[in-house]
Amino acid sequence: MRILILSDLHSNATALNAVLDAAKDRWDFSVCLGDVVGYGPDPNEVTARLRELGTKTIRGNHDKAVTGLMDTEDFNPVAKAAVDWTRSELNPEHMAWLSALPKGPLETDGIVLVHGALQDEDEYVFTPQQALDGLLDSNAKVTFFGHTHHQGGFSYEDADLEVLQIRPRSAESFAALRIEPTRRYLLNPGSIGQPRDGDPRAAFAIADLQHNVVEFWRVPYDIQAVQKRMRSAHLPEPLVQRLAVGR
Ligand code: ZN
Repeated sequence: MRILILSDLHSNATALNAVLDAAKDRWDFSVCLGDVVGYGPDPNEVTARLRELGTKTIRGNHDKAVTGLMDTEDFNPVAKAAVDWTRSELNPEHMAWLSALPKGPLETDGIVLVHGALQDEDEYVFTPQQALDGLLDSNAKVTFFGHTHHQGGFSYEDADLEVLQIRPRSAESFAALRIEPTRRYLLNPGSIGQPRDGDPRAAFAIADLQHNVVEFWRVPYDIQAVQKRMRSAHLPEPLVQRLAVGR
């Protein structure tokens, strides 16, 4: 079973289409770690695509904010403006689907899915200390998380916590991580719609746990086309510009 792992799509249909083209015929079923919408110009298209694919999806903080399950007090003004715009754009059926998304952690097919941290879906996991709870307490050996928009992760065995710097170089499409049978893993596929780890290419992962391998992918997409749609929608300029730098 090869699992396509999507996260932080953020209403970017051009990036999602590039990912699905690159991953074509390489996966058996798909999961999504949340933040389907928010920031980008295509909330209806991206939600529709996930629904068509039958992707097993948990909610992210932006999905909660857009559907009114969370207030936007903690959002910065730019993120809040995008939430308000998204809310006004989404058709009612997609809105209902988003508001019914389950909360992580969700166990499925031998892995666990979370948006942020294992104990708190809205918390960021950047450091080994923050990763420890997830590594120790998850019900699966391999747990996938999103929210930070940084591709990579952590592994753990016998008090040895390793930070995994696993990202394909600019000339490569993917980098493969070998899953050691005795270690535990907390892995982030990176963000499709708004990468923040310095590589503007759309990020995702493909896991084949029968063969003990997780591939971390990056694919280029037409960033300018997305920026153009964002400007016509009057989405905040900082959100438009960050796509080109991947920060
Ligand atoms: Zn996000």
